[in-house]
Amino acid sequence: MANPFENAKTQLAKAGKVRGFGKKELDVLMKINAIHEKELHVTLAGKETKLTAFRVQHNNARGPFKGGIRFHPDVNLDEVKALAFWMSMKCAVVNIPLGGGKGGVVVDAKNLSPKEYEDISRAYIKSMADHIGPDMDILAPDVYTNPQVMAWMLDEYEKIKGIKAPGVITGKPLAVGGSKTRDYSTAQGGVFVLKQAIDLFDMPPFNTKIVIQGFGNAGLHAARLLHRIGYKIIAVSDSKAAVYNEKGLDVPKLIIHKNSTGSVRGFPGKEISNEELLILDAHVLIPAALENMITKDNAGKIKAKIILELANGPVTPEADEILFKNDIFVIPDILANAGGVAVSYFEWVQNRTGYYWEEDDILEKLGILMFKAFKDVYEASKRYSIDMRTAAFIVGTSRILEAERFKGNL
Ligand code: GLU
Repeated sequence: MANPFENAKTQLAKAGKVRGFGKKELDVLMKINAIHEKELHVTLAGKETKLTAFRVQHNNARGPFKGGIRFHPDVNLDEVKALAFWMSMKCAVVNIPLGGGKGGVVVDAKNLSPKEYEDISRAYIKSMADHIGPDMDILAPDVYTNPQVMAWMLDEYEKIKGIKAPGVITGKPLAVGGSKTRDYSTAQGGVFVLKQAIDLFDMPPFNTKIVIQGFGNAGLHAARLLHRIGYKIIAVSDSKAAVYNEKGLDVPKLIIHKNSTGSVRGFPGKEISNEELLILDAHVLIPAALENMITKDNAGKIKAKIILELANGPVTPEADEILFKNDIFVIPDILANAGGVAVSYFEWVQNRTGYYWEEDDILEKLGILMFKAFKDVYEASKRYSIDMRTAAFIVGTSRILEAERFKGNL
């Protein structure tokens, strides 16, 4: 299995080559500011259990560290380092004044009771409280964490510190200082950039066939939003199954099915494998699950013209080369899924000013920000005749390096 941190280094090296970065620039960009590794003591299924927890703080030249926390059995330090690094790039690509961080707990969250979920969330904050804060490092949801988890974490932080500090964490429920649209903003940001890409390709909007891998927060809302504007979602998958209907799935019913049964399994349509799903004949493929899904082994078989990476790190560097050769337009994660952290930034601003915005205001601000980010990256890809990922790295790294230069670190 490809190591995500090695992948991240390869991606950076590629951009560095185009821009002629020396060792000094590469060292500054790769430098991890701090790694916090802790042991959480919780009771799971009646047994005293120790869980490993991480918080990695990559770069804060442009603002406080920012990034989510995932609960997953495969979480490991190199993965969290890569995810923190991608957060720094992502925030710079969409030009928000935040750095990059990421956290994780090594745990299979699928069978946790609500009480166990809460205990892990609180234990995480107890172990990390001195390393985080609204001006230091701001947390958020990621794989298998959600607004309720954010609310427990905020409550624990505020109890420990004895203050109100809603800006320490984003993706909260509205009732405790969350922002309108944050629940679907990752998908919404993706839809904004996808529309720009579709315009470039002259694809007929009403016949655009879309495949989505992953039906968590990002994948589900992407299906909902794209279906609503007339695109055809022909297949979706989750960790248990994949369903396909050439004529288009009934997305509203599919969402009800997923919410009531916990899976897309059993929804009317043809059940296919995950491998078959990725290589279906579609216009757009949206990986919205985990890293390393599109590799050198399946990249050559992909028929989609556009890949919109709502997941972090779904395409390996070797697969990138193949996709580029095959003229497949990859909208990279650090642009495609940046709508999530962009609205997290808006949430943090609202928390700090104590003034809360309406849904339309946020959508307008998000649209402007994503439009500009897509334009910056697309123009860089044309200027240097490179793929969109390398172009996004060029845009992101030049902003980080500019800040580092002003701070005297270069
Ligand atoms: N976990 C999300 C991501 O990977 C959101 C991070 C945030 O809002 O800080 O971008």
